[in-house]
Amino acid sequence: MKTEDRRQKTEVRPKKALGQHFLTDQNIAKKIVEQLSPDAETVIEVGAGTGVLTQYMVQDLLGKFYVIEIDKESIAYLKTHFPMLGERLIEGDFLKADLSQYGKQNMAIIGNFPYNISSQIFFQVLKYKEQVVEVVGMVQKEMAERMAAKEGSKTYGILSVLMQAWYDIDYLFTVHENVFNPPPKVKSAVIKMRRNAVTDLGCDEKRFVTIVKQAFNQRRKTLRNSLRPMLSPDIIENEVFNKRPEQLSIKEFVDLTNLISSCASHDAP
Ligand code: SAH
Repeated sequence: MKTEDRRQKTEVRPKKALGQHFLTDQNIAKKIVEQLSPDAETVIEVGAGTGVLTQYMVQDLLGKFYVIEIDKESIAYLKTHFPMLGERLIEGDFLKADLSQYGKQNMAIIGNFPYNISSQIFFQVLKYKEQVVEVVGMVQKEMAERMAAKEGSKTYGILSVLMQAWYDIDYLFTVHENVFNPPPKVKSAVIKMRRNAVTDLGCDEKRFVTIVKQAFNQRRKTLRNSLRPMLSPDIIENEVFNKRPEQLSIKEFVDLTNLISSCASHDAP
């Protein structure tokens, strides 16, 4: 891979509204790119900015590598510095992009994500879980911890359950705020997600999402209290409802969904 950095950082002034914090440390940039598995058929970089990650992928991956960037100024910069990208440099909003037009399977997503929309980025990934086999991304440290958290942990929450239902998630390493321009107020971390073998959750997916969200919205309450409106009298005394949401594994949320579905009457949501 090419190692020299041909970018001129001063050409794009970081915009707060777009969550722009440009990574300035070449070794970290390389280390992030190295986490990509070689088997992806399509690689999409989200928000390339001035191309600190792009420069380490553009040569090796050319032909299967796309960049989606929303900022006009960054796009102009990337066009000049990475002309070989051609049509594969796309000006647009990743959250609205139709990812299936870039590949049907084995797709990887990489990026130093704009932190203000990182959960939306993960929900967009989830929408394309049939295509996206891998995500390597830098996010706010707390977000990375939540994504990778297991049941029983304080940080285990909606995103942990909904993402881990489909992806194995590893917290890779922490990144200090002073390697960004401008430095963010929080620490960052890189995570890697790999699609697991699940093709069918084993329960009604929509209801699963509703239950997980509802349960964690009042995470200190027992499931009996937070889910009460959807529980029929014949299951409400079941002892699983004495638990709090952070005590349940993914599998237990699936079982819980099936339990509620089995008794769902016309008046239950
Ligand atoms: N990868 C670069 C920039 C990271 S900052 C680096 O590490 O230095 C986040 C980048 O995401 C910015 O370039 C910002 O313009 C871009 N961005 C923000 N919202 C976006 C969206 N909805 N879709 C695509 N790119 C977006």
